[in-house]
Amino acid sequence: MFKGLFNIIRGKKGRTPAGRKATVLGPSHHGINPKLLSANADRVVATLQKAGFDAFVVGGAVRDLLLGVKPKDFDVATNAEPEQIKRLFRRAFIIGRRFQIVHVLFGQDLIEVTTFRAPGDDERVRDSAGRLLRDNTFGTQEEDAVRRDFTINAMYYDPQTQTLHDYHGGIRDLQNRILRVIGDPMERFREDPVRMLRVVRFSAKLGFGIDADTRKPMVPLSSLINNVPGARLFDEVIKLLTSGYAMKCLSVLREQGLHRNLFPFLDEALARADVSRFIELSLQRTDARIHAGKTASPGFLFATLLWHPFQERWQHHRENGEHLVPALHLAADDIFSDQAEKLALQRRITSDIRDIWSLQPRLEKRAGRTVYKLLENERFRAAYDFLLLRCEAGEIPAETGDWWTTFINADNPERESLLADRQRSAPSSSRRRRRSGQRQQKSAEA
Ligand code: ATP
Ligand code: MG
Repeated sequence: MFKGLFNIIRGKKGRTPAGRKATVLGPSHHGINPKLLSANADRVVATLQKAGFDAFVVGGAVRDLLLGVKPKDFDVATNAEPEQIKRLFRRAFIIGRRFQIVHVLFGQDLIEVTTFRAPGDDERVRDSAGRLLRDNTFGTQEEDAVRRDFTINAMYYDPQTQTLHDYHGGIRDLQNRILRVIGDPMERFREDPVRMLRVVRFSAKLGFGIDADTRKPMVPLSSLINNVPGARLFDEVIKLLTSGYAMKCLSVLREQGLHRNLFPFLDEALARADVSRFIELSLQRTDARIHAGKTASPGFLFATLLWHPFQERWQHHRENGEHLVPALHLAADDIFSDQAEKLALQRRITSDIRDIWSLQPRLEKRAGRTVYKLLENERFRAAYDFLLLRCEAGEIPAETGDWWTTFINADNPERESLLADRQRSAPSSSRRRRRSGQRQQKSAEA
């Protein structure tokens, strides 16, 4: 791949606003394997071109094709406007406000089609920190390339002619494994601070170095993350955590000081060896799941990341005289109201997290017949996995997790005997009450 890079075909005369010529490479130079391209993306490009428009596969899909990786989704960029695009396809929907895009559907497969955009130079669409609030001005292909985030994400591929259009030296950076922001990094991060999180994700995921000029303003500008709406940050954090490189992402996030505005408790939590081990184990498991083609539940991920600050709040409410269960829910409320501001955790997710947490004391206790009820609980599997993680991190005895593993795999008579064993080994509640009564009496006498 990339052989004969310098023997490029100087195709179109298009110049970027920076005055750079677009480089057009033929198939023998870029080495893209057409078999990795989706037939539907191909179809969308062909339909648009047949109707007289320019159309290309663009962005992450081109980057992945050049790296020889099968892209997980395909974006198409065109000079057709949303209404014109919509008319060409049977199932096409215009969506979005900030970026108006068209979703073209073929069964379950979705191709995102965007009209070329011009950089938003108008001061009226920025907030006081320079963040772009709208970005919907249509432009030329050259302008569209300028407003993309990284050089390696600003390449266009035409499947019909099998040519690659590179405006900002993306192919060279890909070859040198460098992530470089297009334009002035300081300005580009001010326009959209989420780009800093994208630097983290792509550098971790692709194993690319971060160009020095791109890296320089990241620590000074890290607090701009605070200005980004929580819902957008949530989406980006999920992408980080489910990138298959969550561990690496977390460490780059911390290097750049970006975690403080996403997970303010993280520094304190990771300073404790046991917590650090717990989070590490959880992220390693998540990464392994993603690499095995499985999904990772956001509820489970956040339940692990927030477990330790939650435990501290739980302890605090207990010390203030609350009983175990009400204290647990108060602590969960504290954590959610804190995180809700940062990441706008949706109700569906907070309810998953609350269930996983509130099942923990019940799973540890394994009280009599309630064990069967726990098994039927919708969230049992997640709570059990969470319990195993706590065992492996050394937070609770391994015996608790082992007991559940044996119980799950046992037949009915074996389950009964496991429960009977527990009842024999655990002091009965009446005996416990008597003992605690005696203790209270003694301390009153003292
Ligand atoms: P992946 O989908 O593998 O996570 P991607 O590069 O395709 O990576 P998307 O979020 O799908 O990422 O975005 C598609 C393209 O849109 C990017 O490749 C980039 O060119 C452009 N883009 C996305 N987000 C931004 C942004 N915040 N600023 C500028 N350009 C962006
Ligand atoms: Mg993409």
